[in-house]
Amino acid sequence: MQTVDVLVIGAGPAGTVAASYLKKQGYDVTILEKEKFPRFQIGESLLPCCMEHLTEAGLREAIEPLNFQKKTGAAFMRGEKRCEFLFEDQFTKGWTWTWQVKRADFDSKLAEATREKGVDVHFECEVTAVQCGPEKQIVDYKDAEGNAHRIEAKFIIDSSGYGRVLPRLFDLSKPSAFTPRGAVFSHLEDKNRTETASNNIFVHSFDNNKSWIWAIPFSDGSTSVGIVGDREKIEALAENNGEGYKAFIRNFEDLHGRFADSQLKFEPRAILGYSIGVTKMSGEGFVLSGNSTEFLDPIFSSGVTFATASGLLSAKMTHKHLQGEAVDWKKDYEEVIQKGIDVFRSYVSGWYTGDFQTIVFAKHIDEDIKRQICSVLAGYVWDQTNPFVKKHDTILPTLAKVIKMKEKAEEAGQS
Ligand code: FAD
Repeated sequence: MQTVDVLVIGAGPAGTVAASYLKKQGYDVTILEKEKFPRFQIGESLLPCCMEHLTEAGLREAIEPLNFQKKTGAAFMRGEKRCEFLFEDQFTKGWTWTWQVKRADFDSKLAEATREKGVDVHFECEVTAVQCGPEKQIVDYKDAEGNAHRIEAKFIIDSSGYGRVLPRLFDLSKPSAFTPRGAVFSHLEDKNRTETASNNIFVHSFDNNKSWIWAIPFSDGSTSVGIVGDREKIEALAENNGEGYKAFIRNFEDLHGRFADSQLKFEPRAILGYSIGVTKMSGEGFVLSGNSTEFLDPIFSSGVTFATASGLLSAKMTHKHLQGEAVDWKKDYEEVIQKGIDVFRSYVSGWYTGDFQTIVFAKHIDEDIKRQICSVLAGYVWDQTNPFVKKHDTILPTLAKVIKMKEKAEEAGQS
């Protein structure tokens, strides 16, 4: 039976970052990946903070020559209201840009660069069963021909994303408190991309803050466009090969005809009920990273950044563990990752209650406040010197209330 130091499940951003970091520390690392790459994945708009993780794993340099669309900020719209954040104007010192990527190309390059570092990456190998113990972990998988294999590892990092291999096998999933939502999306030609549309992500809030549309421009002139909303709404838009989606995108007034005559690059796809949590992020012989842990909502494009952040930290803790040092997984891993997730949880809640929109579309937005919110949008959600991180659970509703009162008083004064 093949024996390795670390077995990583999944070759997405979480798995490749974890594997590359551990290879750098001298371990024998294998990745088992279910799909044949390149494969489609959703999650195309990155956050600047993930550049730190890609750099530390030694993977950023491999991505640079692919000339992905540079992303320098994010614009939010609601009707005629607009608020644009630029990452160069942020509170936390950090990266001021990142990329918007077609994940098929991005993930393939990450996997190729990881393999070049000496990690064994096996595609079309699906993990089917896992037995964990104090000394060794036994992993069963089947290859493309359906042949069964077994591999033994000292430690397992589960980076299987939506596959959620260990949460499924060990019954670790827990439901999300968020309303079940979904998304329907495609890539469209974007001939009418204008200067004002810029090359950054555009997010249009509508339906009384319950639904929104993303437009994520790519460097090849196409744009990813997705509609997010309550499950029933998305199911209806996705019916009949996405007829409802096509009609909606072409006629949505706030996009000012940008996609009115655009061809779709593929039939619209839908993904439903993606919000999910876990009861714990580690156990004897394993740790979970990326989407195998908790996934909240796509609104602030935080998924890949959490994948790279947790991939990197899980690898650092695994290194410590394999060195024979005591690791407090709960405190040094789970609580750290959870802290960042909890910040975004407050912002996701604030988006659907409309508090976030009240703040960013206010008649006057204080520049210091904007800079602090901008750092959250850049993914720097572990910076406790930022009041919009530290007081994340109360600051949005409190500020939104003050703004509403002020605007009401101004309106009353004018009439
Ligand atoms: P993945 O990228 O899913 O990789 C996991 C890999 O594991 C896959 O390649 C899979 O084939 C493999 N695998 C699964 N099961 C097995 C198995 N049994 N054996 C072996 N391998 C297996 N995030 C952003 O950052 N920006 C966005 O703009 C964004 N938009 C989104 C829009 C929507 C509608 C949704 C639902 C999510 C969005 N996300 C976004 C989130 C993003 O998709 C994920 O957070 C991200 O892909 C997680 O990366 P990962 O490495 O954890 O998992």
